[in-house]
Amino acid sequence: MSVTEGRPVRALTLHQPWAHAIAHLGKDVENRTRRTNFRDGLVLVHAGARVDHDALRDLPADVAAAMTSSAVVAVTRITDAHPDCGGRCSTWAQPGAWHWQLAGTVALTAPVPAPGAQGLWIPDDGLRRRVARALPAHAADRLGPLLASDLFPSPERTGRL
Ligand SMILES: [Zn+2]
Repeated sequence: MSVTEGRPVRALTLHQPWAHAIAHLGKDVENRTRRTNFRDGLVLVHAGARVDHDALRDLPADVAAAMTSSAVVAVTRITDAHPDCGGRCSTWAQPGAWHWQLAGTVALTAPVPAPGAQGLWIPDDGLRRRVARALPAHAADRLGPLLASDLFPSPERTGRL
């Protein structure tokens, strides 16, 4: 049996500083060119290897210098995806984009190194376990206990933890 037989978990690779903004600055909308139907599980927020240098210039130099790349930095949930709402859903919403609303975001206690991929990708069991170990103590309060447990599969469910 595999961990991935539980509720689906996905990962999303973003250029820095956007992964950092979700993890630490309260960014609660991801602006995308298309909608998603993924709304019933956790999303690992992955900082890709590439950097958005224009956006990085808006941040303090020490914050920019400390920014992690090629690692999972947070866990969140996508709770809605809607076309441009005129910015009503969040100050982070951009005109002309699909707004993927994020909720319950928790920053990891330490970044978990991993290569990225395009779009919403499926993290393997090993990565899920490493991310689970890096969740802060309050993760279940933020994400919901059932959702948080998707990263903490019981030995009975997986047979090999
Ligand atoms: Zn919106």
